[in-house]
Order: sequence, then structure tokens, then C-alpha cells
Amino acid sequence: MALVECPSCGKRMSSVAKSCASCNASTSGDTEAQRNIRKIKLASQLQLHSFIAMTLFIAGVVIWFWGGEPAEGNRMYVGSACFVFGFIGYLITRVRIILNKRKSV
Ligand SMILES: [Zn+2]
Repeated sequence: MALVECPSCGKRMSSVAKSCASCNASTSGDTEAQRNIRKIKLASQLQLHSFIAMTLFIAGVVIWFWGGEPAEGNRMYVGSACFVFGFIGYLITRVRIILNKRKSV
């Protein structure tokens, strides 16, 4: 008995189990197709994440420069938090998209 990666959700499972304990996917089916479906799902999820991060980033910029004057007090904190989290989130998502693409080749 060995531990293998579930073709559907990617979690560790027993190689002798007939179905995955976490997502209930059958291992007797077409694992190649299931793997592709998982990759496509992950890719669209990452697209959504990068979109959210981008929106956060733009929101940060807008909050900062709203009304054409430098941000002060709470607005400055909120603006810079959106800016930083959006930027970092976007970078992380970009790296994950690249890694996901590289894995599929
Ligand atoms: Zn699974």
C-alpha cells in the first residue's frame, strides 16, 4: 500500500482505495481526464484570484488619490493596505499561474 495523489482534488490517498476519502472521486475512472479537469478548474480559480487582486490594487490607488489630494489618516491606511495586499496577491497568483502551466506541459 502506498500513498498517491488523488487525480481529482490532489490530496493524499491510499493507492488501494477505490475512491478518494476527501472528494469521493473514483480512482477507477479516466484519471487523465480528471487530472485535466482539475487543472482547468485551478486555472479558472487563479484567473479569478488575479482579477480580485487587481481590483484591490486599483481600489488602493483610487482611495489614495481620490479628489486629487494626498490621503491622510484612515484613508491612507485603507488605501495602502489595499495597494500592498492587491500587489502581493497579484504577484503570488501570477507565480501560481506560471507553475500551473509548467506542470501541464
Ligand atoms: Zn480527492
